[in-house]
Amino acid sequence: KIDVFTFGETMVLFQPEQMLPLEYIHQFPKKIGGAESNVAIGLTRLGHSASWYSKLGNDPFGRFILNSIRGEGVDTSSCQFTDQAPTGLIFKEQLSSSDMNVYYYRKGSSASLMEPEDLDEKIIAQAKIIHISGITPALSESCRRTVMRSIEIAKQNGTIVIFDPNMRMKLWSEERAKKIFNEIAEHADIILPGLDEGQLMTGKKEVEAVAEALLGKSNKTIIIKLGSQGAYLHSNAEKLYVDGFPVEKIVDPVGAGDGFAAGIISGILRQEPMKQVVRRANAIGAMVVGVSGDIEGLPYFEAVEKFMKPAGIDRD
Ligand code: ATP
Repeated sequence: KIDVFTFGETMVLFQPEQMLPLEYIHQFPKKIGGAESNVAIGLTRLGHSASWYSKLGNDPFGRFILNSIRGEGVDTSSCQFTDQAPTGLIFKEQLSSSDMNVYYYRKGSSASLMEPEDLDEKIIAQAKIIHISGITPALSESCRRTVMRSIEIAKQNGTIVIFDPNMRMKLWSEERAKKIFNEIAEHADIILPGLDEGQLMTGKKEVEAVAEALLGKSNKTIIIKLGSQGAYLHSNAEKLYVDGFPVEKIVDPVGAGDGFAAGIISGILRQEPMKQVVRRANAIGAMVVGVSGDIEGLPYFEAVEKFMKPAGIDRD
């Protein structure tokens, strides 16, 4: 039995330890990078069962990605391998603590060949939640159709649809992203934009105006991520800011959004009140920015509980 289904492209991530232009880097530690698999891994650490689907290249990198994600306890049984295209790669270049570039080698990759017919309908139908990321529809037209098909299957089976826009400027234009994000958002039960993504989708500026525009006349829940400020929760039932947790030292801001999404999904699966759901997601986001790497900082459930307790109460 699977609680959550998600799918998308995970690439082999080459992230040098030195701060130098890539032309002077000679060693590339090999890791994995992918927003949707980050969420799936985050969920298994929080005690849930998650299934991740992708189309991987029939090559050593594809096998490395599958082994890594499966090794984290995620169900990968519906993944496929193809000879038609290689697994996508990503290189990160850190020039200073604030200046980071990414170089994609993913155009026409195996994952961009995902098609609606590839989806395992049974897994989506029996899942409680499906997590959709806005990266996947940017990969190709067939990927966009796959996203829309997954939503259709979810809707037919009462599976909750959670949408994280995850804007990637390098993959498509703002105009195209805006159109597709809004199409997906229309069918989503819960939307998790950053403020900039919400602004792009609605053309509004202020947090509350963005949330109001995303909610419209629907019955959705909108949760706008506000970095160190935490998040803003907006639904017909409640409208409130939920404070973030202080972070002693920001080591790596990337991946906070994925940890946050895992936290929201976990809280919903635990049927907690929404304010508490957002509070836990804030805690996870704050924990993730304190650790280097996308998945390294994703916490286990007990660690989050401990982190959320005010100092002094925990005596062990
Ligand atoms: P990502 O960089 O992973 O794409 P994002 O832009 O989607 O992240 P952020 O708003 O940066 O989203 O972070 C998600 C959540 O993580 C925030 O809503 C907040 O709860 C937490 N968070 C992020 N940065 C900080 C911080 N500096 N201090 C405390 N909490 C943070």
